[in-house]
Amino acid sequence: MIKMKPRTKDKLYIYYREGKKCFYCSKKILYKQMSIDHFYPLSSGGTHDIFNIVCSCKKCNELKEDKIVENYQKIIIELFLKAVEDDFVKGEGLDISNKELKYLLLDTVRVKNISEEFIFESMNYRFYIKDSKVYKYNYVSSII
Ligand SMILES: [Zn+2]
Repeated sequence: MIKMKPRTKDKLYIYYREGKKCFYCSKKILYKQMSIDHFYPLSSGGTHDIFNIVCSCKKCNELKEDKIVENYQKIIIELFLKAVEDDFVKGEGLDISNKELKYLLLDTVRVKNISEEFIFESMNYRFYIKDSKVYKYNYVSSII
């Protein structure tokens, strides 16, 4: 299994996002005891994006292993929207400002692809994301 050392900023962010609790069992944990879990497993193509890592106690991390959580799409969208709100998802090399982008991203309703990169969709836009950065987006008339 690939071991990742997340940036301290990201680690602190998820620790506080989870309310200093384990994402899975809600047990209170100390910062120094937290382990990082890739919510959608790396072994299935999950990424290191901030919305795919959660704060977990050691026990849950070991129990979860490489399992895929039921309803994972709904949860990933929630984590993604939270990251957008908290300005952890930004555009790179796009023709719109981050402020405009944020406005569009907050309308995201589904996750289309997870493997290697994330693709999220709103009613009219498709966003391509890598390393928590939107590197491409396009207008699609009525995806639904
Ligand atoms: Zn736990």
